[in-house]
Amino acid sequence: MSRMFRLFTFAAISGALFIAAGPASATHSWSGYHWSRPSNPFTVTLGNNLTSNWTPYLTTAGSDWSITSGACNNPQNPIRCSVTSGGSGGRKCRPTAGRVEVCNSTYGNNGWLGIAQIWVTGLHITQGTVKVNDTYFNTPQYNTPAWRSFVMDQEVGHTFGLAHQDENFNNPDLLDACGRGSCMDYSADPSNNTKPNQHDYDELVIIYGHSDGAAAIAPGASASVGQNVDEDTDNESSWGRPVDFANGRPDVYERDLGGGNKLVTHVIWVQ
Ligand SMILES: [Zn+2]
Ligand SMILES: [Zn+2]
Repeated sequence: MSRMFRLFTFAAISGALFIAAGPASATHSWSGYHWSRPSNPFTVTLGNNLTSNWTPYLTTAGSDWSITSGACNNPQNPIRCSVTSGGSGGRKCRPTAGRVEVCNSTYGNNGWLGIAQIWVTGLHITQGTVKVNDTYFNTPQYNTPAWRSFVMDQEVGHTFGLAHQDENFNNPDLLDACGRGSCMDYSADPSNNTKPNQHDYDELVIIYGHSDGAAAIAPGASASVGQNVDEDTDNESSWGRPVDFANGRPDVYERDLGGGNKLVTHVIWVQ
């Protein structure tokens, strides 16, 4: 998506023109996917299935995405994360209805650093998983606080329905008015890309600018219809068809599970 379009939306937000207008055409939403909920703010439960070296990064991601106060944030941020004990365990990272399971393992030399997967019914997210690949995070190139935090914050951000602000690893970081880069901006040096910035919070406000009211899906509904939940979903062969490309390579896939249900996968590849 173009920089011009982002700037347009930023201008619209700055002018406070369209915020209350409901599901506006978001600039880095992930195809409009969002959690169904009766009102804002709402809680996203993050299941901690991580080894202890990863746990602080999930705790930080949960608090980063829940921020409402302070300069260059957005008091209308609808997200409140609750990190709780994992409901899955193991490398398979089996999804749990109504929440996001977060897992790490040595998933092998499959090319990906991290993946975020959401199961959707129509546009509504019903469950999600985040996996980070220790096969790469155990190497000196990626075994740094900046890389771990960048990937964890980004993958958790995808499970709310956010896409990337930018997919060029080699351009300057997209900064907010406080000089903060974004975890949703690809960067070869992620030291200023470890957290969301104002544009991400503003985008969440747009995505969640409507209420699902009485039609909200009750927690516990599952979109794993048409899929064996015990299936391994960490290989590209299980992700379905590519629907978005970055740097000449697919980075988003969708698999039709039938009945209006889909498995959507967002991947960040090693460089
Ligand atoms: Zn909705
Ligand atoms: Zn991503």
